[in-house]
Amino acid sequence: MKTIRFPDGTAVPALGQGTWMMAEDPARRSDEIAALREGLSLGLTLIDTAEMYADGESERLVGEAIAGRRDEVFLVGKAYPQNASRDRLPRACEASLDRLGTDRLDLYLLHWRGGVPLAETVAAMERLVAAGKILRWGVSNLDVDDMTELAECGGERCQTDQILYNLTRRGPEYDLMPWLARRGMPVMAYSPVEQGRLLAHRGLIEMAAARDATPAQIALAWLLAQNGILPIPKAGSVAHVWENRAAADVTLSDAERRRLDDLFPPPRGPEPLAML
Ligand code: NAP
Repeated sequence: MKTIRFPDGTAVPALGQGTWMMAEDPARRSDEIAALREGLSLGLTLIDTAEMYADGESERLVGEAIAGRRDEVFLVGKAYPQNASRDRLPRACEASLDRLGTDRLDLYLLHWRGGVPLAETVAAMERLVAAGKILRWGVSNLDVDDMTELAECGGERCQTDQILYNLTRRGPEYDLMPWLARRGMPVMAYSPVEQGRLLAHRGLIEMAAARDATPAQIALAWLLAQNGILPIPKAGSVAHVWENRAAADVTLSDAERRRLDDLFPPPRGPEPLAML
């Protein structure tokens, strides 16, 4: 499995696992836990979660999935913007650690920008690093202007920006991704199959069928072929995890890449960062 390096030198597998919408339906719980565990066994050791997901229940589910296997996992958490203050971030982090059944997060992200000044969030994150509660920190859903402000207010140790990026959401290619690449910061690409909607695209279905792959595999392989992109698909079944893991072995030809550019054109100018 290809790896991605954070600015602090830490390497992680280039394909991770998302958990939004997990723990919403008790009938799917055992499948979701089995999917995450299978993913770990297949080398998808980065797991992304957030205090927001299922109101903390997603973290509990992740905790159950990684019980006894914590050291295999690169665990990513996210804090609500309203919790990203000097006083509240330590409490939010402690609550997440408790639900996850662990003593540290490998990466802690500001979920999106809210009313707390970025400088205060940076200071709160750095205090959590000093306390050993988190090993590094980053942000999510921040566009170039916010990233520039972050860098100017002491945020030079930010490790990543987790953003909406997939074949149908190529806007960040114009300015945000080059900005991040210049600073050696990888992109965590969320909703890499557009929450499943992308998989119904006729052109993608045809391309996939022509090479005995699936639309999800083409969409993920396109992301994985790029430098510094770490997609985090959410898969609620073992079968989807297998399929997604196999995408890391799909190499797109130049002709296939050109076809994807025709089907999903790159941006021609700046576009505001979209979020889901
Ligand atoms: P996604 O990963 O693009 O799509 C998930 C959907 O695709 C699920 O319905 C899943 O179905 C389906 N799927 C996955 N693999 C498949 C396959 N091989 N074949 C067919 N269907 C497949 O969307 P997402 O969950 O929004 O994004 C991924 C992760 O990014 C989230 O779970 C979360 O961790 C993170 N995220 C972060 C933010 C943020 O603001 N930072 C926002 C959104 C998401 P099954 O469940 O049935 O497998």
